[in-house]
Amino acid sequence: MIYLGEQLDALNKFKPLVTCWFNIKRLGNARKGDVNGYQCVDKNCRICNSKIEKLNNTVIDYTDYLNFICPYLNRIIECKPNEIISLQDEIKDEWLKIGLGTEDHLKEKSKHVFTVKGYKEWFTNGSINYSLAEWLDKHTCVYCNRQYIFTTRKIGEKRGVTCQFDHWFDKGSRPLFALSFYNLIPSCSVCNSSVKSRTHFNTDDYLHPYIDKDISSRFKFSSIPNTATQYGITFLNENKMDAKTKKTLEGLGTKLVYSKHSEKELQDLIDLRMKYSDNYLKNLLENTFKNELYMTKEEKYRLIFGIELSEDNMHKRPFSKFKKDIIDELLRIK
Ligand SMILES: [Zn+2]
Ligand SMILES: [Zn+2]
Repeated sequence: MIYLGEQLDALNKFKPLVTCWFNIKRLGNARKGDVNGYQCVDKNCRICNSKIEKLNNTVIDYTDYLNFICPYLNRIIECKPNEIISLQDEIKDEWLKIGLGTEDHLKEKSKHVFTVKGYKEWFTNGSINYSLAEWLDKHTCVYCNRQYIFTTRKIGEKRGVTCQFDHWFDKGSRPLFALSFYNLIPSCSVCNSSVKSRTHFNTDDYLHPYIDKDISSRFKFSSIPNTATQYGITFLNENKMDAKTKKTLEGLGTKLVYSKHSEKELQDLIDLRMKYSDNYLKNLLENTFKNELYMTKEEKYRLIFGIELSEDNMHKRPFSKFKKDIIDELLRIK
């Protein structure tokens, strides 16, 4: 997993968009002629100038719900991951206290507003996901560092290719946080839809890419011989690994998603180390650019192995963490 950093610039760009969207849903759109509708002070606001309309109340009335949630909106958007559960409890207690309905009503209404209308119809279909991905600027999946998650689109077009956003606290059980900034993790489709979805994450038992700065250095990949010529992928000193890191790697299925790379990237590196009589791996690093211009260690690793060495840049190339750990291990073997 890769640490996402503070991302305050991205948060400051994201927050007004959600605020305008929510208030138009609640009050209507003043710039579309709604008499008591909402508009913000920004004349060029892309949300207030869009076609977004007031939430339709034909079957169930959402007015009380939206007015109830409004004072909590800022906190819902920028709530830190380790404060999400207590904020949800606080909102639920107040909801029950003033008698607006049961806990299930709160959950159902949150699901309709934040997950269906907010996350699916507005955030994803409205291309807000492209903007957030561009602001966060992470190039590979935060969970696996195996796949590129670039955002690209043709000039003037809203859509192209981008990452998926995983809800670290799953939006099924906590729909109020479907649009919360620190709950939206840029990831690949494999990590988002197949592997992580089976586990309910919480900050007591799992590492979080917005909290744990040392997230990628808390474990190391390692190779393990299966036969004389075939190797598998495991973690170094797995039995000594702390419980939180272990649970996180299990929850993300890291070993599983990397397992087939034992026949590809791992085998290539092992061949460089083992197939030739000399330590070819060491030779490559020490002698390839020997007589050329001065080259940093980072540049050598990028040119020879296609990876980034520093933790800050690791997200820019797939397999950076994996290959670095394996190369370190292979260089240690005498
Ligand atoms: Zn606005
Ligand atoms: Zn992934």
